[in-house]
Amino acid sequence: MYSDRRRVLVTGSTSGIGLSIAKRFAQLGHDVALNSFESEADVHAVVQSVSYGATGIVRYFRADLADPGQSFGLVGQVIESFGLLDILVNNAGIQKVAPVEAFPPADWDRILAVSLGSTFHTIRAAVPGMAQRGWGRIINIASAHGLRASPFKSAYVATKHGVVGLTKSVALEVAELGITVNAICPGYVWTPLVAGQVADQAKVHGISENQVIRDILLAPQPTKQFVQPEEVAELAVYLSSDMARSITGTAISIDGGWTAK
Ligand code: NAD
Repeated sequence: MYSDRRRVLVTGSTSGIGLSIAKRFAQLGHDVALNSFESEADVHAVVQSVSYGATGIVRYFRADLADPGQSFGLVGQVIESFGLLDILVNNAGIQKVAPVEAFPPADWDRILAVSLGSTFHTIRAAVPGMAQRGWGRIINIASAHGLRASPFKSAYVATKHGVVGLTKSVALEVAELGITVNAICPGYVWTPLVAGQVADQAKVHGISENQVIRDILLAPQPTKQFVQPEEVAELAVYLSSDMARSITGTAISIDGGWTAK
């Protein structure tokens, strides 16, 4: 599928979907830059798990993507270390469930900064090198919430709609430069991000945690099953291939039929 070994950065890749994407690219022999805001010591075991069986370089880059300077600088660090960056996967994201009138403004700011702000900053840092070589892949992990809304998720829904809009706009700008820009829009994937919101959802809806899983999380997904992180990883690999060169500016759903409704 690949003509070359690629250099890949996956933001927020010590857990969940990002970790699966990083592992898959590493298994395929590419050089992989892992990232989160955690210390090297805290992520040591995770980095080892990605390195296992990898034939390319696997390296960890600490950066708090709530900070615009660190987001922009992360790409520079990866380019300095790997020589260049071919594939940028903007995956880092956080969640908070609360009614809009009680939504803490600090959480609003952080959610927008980590997902939408950092996606803008990493893209603007990565595009010049990709343009120079005439090849690049930018994949933004948005969400079904980039296409549909749910109550009590004002910051997350606004962020993910913003990520889809940013994806389209940049895709048009770089369309003639050999760079594709796409958003992946997963439905519910069972990861720490989803597990962590079950208690909050139970509180705001006044129901049990089991009811949250059945009546809220899986209710919009016609398959009644969580998407697996590995499925999202495989889609990211395909979008990074040469065969996907004509796919750009899209928001591709992987949501068990959610957005067909
Ligand atoms: P997760 O909580 O399992 O992993 C999030 C990752 O982001 C972790 O590695 C964490 O360290 C990192 N991160 C968080 N804040 C950061 C910061 N400030 N700086 C750097 N790294 C930071 O989450 P997940 O469920 O795997 O979600 C990954 C992405 O997929 C997010 O953008 C999320 O919105 C999106 N998504 C998730 C689902 C789902 O159901 N899990 C559905 C649709 C979209």
